[in-house]
Amino acid sequence: MADDDCIFCKIVAGELPSQKVDENDRVLAFLDINPWTRGHALVIPKQHTKNLWEAPKEALDATIEMAQQVAIHQRDRLGCDGVNLLNSTEPVAWQTEFHYHVHVIPRYEDDPLRLPGKPLDVDQDELAKVAEELRG
Ligand code: 5GP
Ligand code: ZN
Repeated sequence: MADDDCIFCKIVAGELPSQKVDENDRVLAFLDINPWTRGHALVIPKQHTKNLWEAPKEALDATIEMAQQVAIHQRDRLGCDGVNLLNSTEPVAWQTEFHYHVHVIPRYEDDPLRLPGKPLDVDQDELAKVAEELRG
């Protein structure tokens, strides 16, 4: 079910323009309107779902499969030297469009992107405690 306020649903419906690079019955890949590098693409499920926490497994599977295909085309057709996949879930993690998507960002030896974070100072006890919490 499309979300009336969602830009990506409008792109899927053809109500807003986009530079499509691939699609099938479940997913669509198109260029990010504000690319970080040449060929920066977004892959989205056609059916609206908010983010990683809510996306059904079929949407996740179809999205990652197309992300791999786009990444291969970025390598073979654009000549990139590597690729980053990025998903942001919720505003605290930089999500700005609330329709699940994966960024497929081709990387070039001379591109300007740099890691946005640096490692926390943690010891083995802290790592063990966190792992225990996550195991539940
Ligand atoms: P987020 O910040 O949620 O991870 O990523 C949203 C991305 O969608 C941003 O990189 C932004 O440039 C892109 N974007 C926002 N509006 C549009 C649009 O109308 N068309 C396209 N192609 N990309 C968009
Ligand atoms: Zn949507």
